Amino acid sequence: MGKINVLLKFLEKRYGYPEFSRNKFKLLITTVLSQRTRDENTYRASKNLFSVVNGPEDILKLPLKNLKELIKPSGMYRQKAERIKKICKILVKEYGGKVPNTREELMKLPGVGYKTADIVLSYGFGVPTIAVDTHVNRIPKRIGIVRKDATVEEVRKTMEKYVKGRKRFLVNIGLVRFGQEICRPVRPKCEICPINKICDYYKSLYNKK
Ligand code: SF4
Repeated sequence: MGKINVLLKFLEKRYGYPEFSRNKFKLLITTVLSQRTRDENTYRASKNLFSVVNGPEDILKLPLKNLKELIKPSGMYRQKAERIKKICKILVKEYGGKVPNTREELMKLPGVGYKTADIVLSYGFGVPTIAVDTHVNRIPKRIGIVRKDATVEEVRKTMEKYVKGRKRFLVNIGLVRFGQEICRPVRPKCEICPINKICDYYKSLYNKK
């Protein structure tokens, strides 16, 4: 498929391959914090939290009230704090304080769905799976690689059909950065976008079909 090859070449040249996260616990909790909020809010909440904790045991010792206060910038902090406590309890009780490395086990944790599980598997364990976050869900639809009304799971399946093996890491990290920098959720910078020639959204916007 022509579009996917252009996209992969562009992502490799501009962003390269990601570094994997050595701290899988931090990755898991940060991904939970990132649900339904903007990247900068996630970053602030994660920075606050991990300036005072290291692992699940620390979070279990932390009073719920303090945990809520630390993660407040991420929004929905009451619900997230409860979930994080429950996750930590399970990690300590059932996994010796470690993060499990299968999708099935990850998805048994409270508040962990496909997206969070795939992000942890991909960035934490180096499993070549497509992790569909908000950017990966939006950009291939705009370009016209994935059907506009596809569900998150359909986006993952379609992208995994087109992108094999290690190259999947290019999609995960590259589309997140590209989505923050150029193909933003609101007012994408289409005029300066280096791949606008292959993009359906751009063509429709400027009637260049
Ligand atoms: S042309 Fe616009 S919508 Fe298309 S990929 Fe580039 S920034 Fe995104």
